[in-house]
Amino acid sequence: MALSIILIFFIYGLVFGSFFNVVGLRVPQKTLFAQNRSYCDTCQRTLTWSELIPVVSYVLQRGKCRKCGESISLIYPTMELATGILAAYTFYRYGWSRELLFGLVLISLVMPITVSDIAYRKIPNAILLFFSPIFFVLRLDALGDALLGAIVAFGLLMLIVVLSKGGMGLGDVKYFTLLGFAFGPLAFLLLFFLATLYGALIGVIVLQVKKTGRKTKIPFAPSIGLAAFTVFYYGEAIIQWYLSYFL
Ligand SMILES: [Zn+2]
Repeated sequence: MALSIILIFFIYGLVFGSFFNVVGLRVPQKTLFAQNRSYCDTCQRTLTWSELIPVVSYVLQRGKCRKCGESISLIYPTMELATGILAAYTFYRYGWSRELLFGLVLISLVMPITVSDIAYRKIPNAILLFFSPIFFVLRLDALGDALLGAIVAFGLLMLIVVLSKGGMGLGDVKYFTLLGFAFGPLAFLLLFFLATLYGALIGVIVLQVKKTGRKTKIPFAPSIGLAAFTVFYYGEAIIQWYLSYFL
């Protein structure tokens, strides 16, 4: 596998990661196309090109705005770096293939939703609606499996919404349903199990670090995204390993 192409995927991933931050932050505010240039959240100043280099600008400015000195959230460079690594790893693992296409679409769905949920506790309908037809096309060859995955996901999640009396948001339900469609029923069940596992672990860590009360609402989308990538890369291996105990 050509190292140079993996590097190109990494660099494009960083740039797209920066774009996904903008999408995740602006779509819930309905300002995605209202303002073209990026600006500082605190002093509203338009950023220069040297402040817009993914990860590098953050490191050079030591995480602070050049003018007002306000801290820039660590979420942004983290998401940029994660997008770069995921894009490079997806190409490294699958090469030029259908899986590469599916993986890049999955990254483009998960990253803005994760940013939006962390920033506003919202999973924007606009992002889910944008990606629904794309996943429909990607799953045309196994539409039955996709529909069954969506039905299983929606049924399971609605049951949890009813039983938990609002403990799970409708945004999470819609997000899970789209992922059920994308992954099919069996992989979805693994995805759901892993998401709750990651959610519990992240919950414990956040409570330890922040020392806030149990009432703090922790966004669930980061756990869902992490589970989606785990299943995309390793789901088949995990399911094989699990079934080997019974067969
Ligand atoms: Zn500023």
